Amino acid sequence: MTTFADLGLSPTLLKAITDAGYNEPTPIQERAIPLLLDGHDLMGLAQTGTGKTAAFGLPIIESLMSDGFPPAPKTAKALILAPTRELVNQISDNLRGFVKKMHLRVTTVVGGQSIGVQIKNLEKGTDILVATPGRLMDLLDRRAVSLEKVRVLVLDEADQMLDLGFIHALRKIAPLCGTPRQTMLFSATMPKQMAELSAAYLTNPRRVQVATPGQAADKVVQSVHFISNRSKADLLKTCLEENPDGLALVFARTKHGAEKLMKHLVEKGFRATSIHGNKSQGQRDRAIKAFKEGSVRILVATDVAARGIDIPGVSHVYNYELPDVPENYVHRIGRTARAGRDGQAVAFCAAAEVDQFKAIEKLMGIKIPVASGIMPPAEAPEPRGRPQGRRPGNAGGGRPGGKPSFGAGRPEQGRPAKRGRSKQKTA
Ligand code: AMP
Repeated sequence: MTTFADLGLSPTLLKAITDAGYNEPTPIQERAIPLLLDGHDLMGLAQTGTGKTAAFGLPIIESLMSDGFPPAPKTAKALILAPTRELVNQISDNLRGFVKKMHLRVTTVVGGQSIGVQIKNLEKGTDILVATPGRLMDLLDRRAVSLEKVRVLVLDEADQMLDLGFIHALRKIAPLCGTPRQTMLFSATMPKQMAELSAAYLTNPRRVQVATPGQAADKVVQSVHFISNRSKADLLKTCLEENPDGLALVFARTKHGAEKLMKHLVEKGFRATSIHGNKSQGQRDRAIKAFKEGSVRILVATDVAARGIDIPGVSHVYNYELPDVPENYVHRIGRTARAGRDGQAVAFCAAAEVDQFKAIEKLMGIKIPVASGIMPPAEAPEPRGRPQGRRPGNAGGGRPGGKPSFGAGRPEQGRPAKRGRSKQKTA
């Protein structure tokens, strides 16, 4: 068994790792840390939940610890870019846990918070700057920070950053960083543009892959119900009632669909909350906190809002509406069965979603077991009045029709609710 000590980390950092409760490195840590300590650029193919934050964070801290001089005012030594506020906060919290007893500063800049405070925080300089690209661009425009001293650049969840249209920001930010520098790119999937990003910003990168894109955590038990849209809400309530002690993450495609579904569940007596782009940062933080603590058992979310957030106890992921992009299914179901626990991923597939379902099976290279219903022909119109949905385990019983359906409409784009004059683009 490989230990953290085998990876070449110093005793001070090993102590911080033990204090954080990590006993042994995860596969991405085992493979990435020695390469990064040797100074290589890295292309990491790994989903959240694999321990990738520590995989890039520990070598950065190791290098900064040996500096012996503080950062100059308005500069950063390492820059970590991530697509969403939640992810930035999660990364910062994780890294702050390691540097608690060291003289290293971790500074966070995200949209939706006072830029004045962030400008002030940056005045004395920082060792590690964790940022969303939109807010960082604002701060660069205001000359609140210079990136010329950045010698390590991390692009985390790079595929998601491309999806959210941050490519222009990346193109502006990367050349402002210092040279020579070490650059790392982490992504859960490998779209074609990723190779272009790698070619543009990485030098002779080593590649580390811990789960093939499209390959779900082994411990996730997947299933699908073929069901009409109007029967989905009833089926969801049945499933939730059958697992009263579970923590359920329910995915909707649109902000409005998510909100409507959450309100319906609350009306019916379920303890539910929601996160999506129309919620303020404070509302989202409170929702995630309540869900993590278990005071709320159901979190209805959109892909953009939920991407990358780490909630260890999720027992069920319901794909109430299938995502347009099959990779998002992989991200969704990766929210359960974390840290060695079991988890269930349940998909609700209506006739109009059959193409998306087939794309998911193709990407994953598996057949998802059918829990109820029969796959309708692709693009078939929704049956009127005679929904196909079945109660789980109730092969014969049809469900009453005429129920309200939730969701539909435009999928949530990577844009937040407009708050004040913030130009932040994260969701
Ligand atoms: P990440 O993929 O970086 O978001 O990490 C997912 C979760 O795993 C976080 O809660 C980490 O604190 C935790 N974690 C990361 N590495 C380890 C490790 N070696 N041992 C135990 N927990 C870990």
